[in-house]
Amino acid sequence: MKDPSYNVHRTMAMSICGMYGSGAISLFGFVDCKFRIFFPSKRPKSFLSKGVCAIVACAASAVFSDSVKDDYTQRNLELLASRGVELEEIVDIVDGLQRPYNPDMERKLCEEHVLGVLRKQQTFHAIQLAIKIDTAVEAEEFSKQYNYTVGQDEGLFGVDESVASAIPLLYGTIAITNFGYLDKAKPGVIAELDSNHEAGKCNTFIDDIVCGIAAAACGRLAHNNTPKYSKPLK
Ligand code: MG
Repeated sequence: MKDPSYNVHRTMAMSICGMYGSGAISLFGFVDCKFRIFFPSKRPKSFLSKGVCAIVACAASAVFSDSVKDDYTQRNLELLASRGVELEEIVDIVDGLQRPYNPDMERKLCEEHVLGVLRKQQTFHAIQLAIKIDTAVEAEEFSKQYNYTVGQDEGLFGVDESVASAIPLLYGTIAITNFGYLDKAKPGVIAELDSNHEAGKCNTFIDDIVCGIAAAACGRLAHNNTPKYSKPLK
């Protein structure tokens, strides 16, 4: 624990902060660095101390984020529709992923949790940025090389996933693992977006945004509705 390169205790603590957004992660860094000032009698290198830093950072971040009372649902739905993505298509993906764990659930439950993700400001910020980049590539606003790299969605270009991951990060590890799965499996509208390159179309960022929203809705649903089965039925 004395080795300054040991970081697993920070990694574990930051997994808590992830659920409160990037603001909480920044605050975690600050509280961690200033630990001796805040908690002069505690050991700064223990697992417990990092957990305390995470709780303080999350609580401080929640004070900011809870003051945002605006509902971004309608604006997010309009942005998605402007790129050909409808609410029902995202609900289909969530239903497909969650049905094996909860065969009796009503489809409406999936819609409720997709809308829950869409009402958040951080979702709005990610969708807005993603669409701005896709449309800027279509309008050839970047350098020739960058337009090509993003427009062709080159294999080693990963900024699209980074932007979209801001959404599932708020809903815990279930959302994150579903995000990775959806990025590979590409069910439904995700594959349609991914394969549509006609007439200079760029969907490099929006397909990951759909993965992010659906994955986040899965995490939100799982944490708010105890499923009848913890494992999918065969
Ligand atoms: Mg992509």
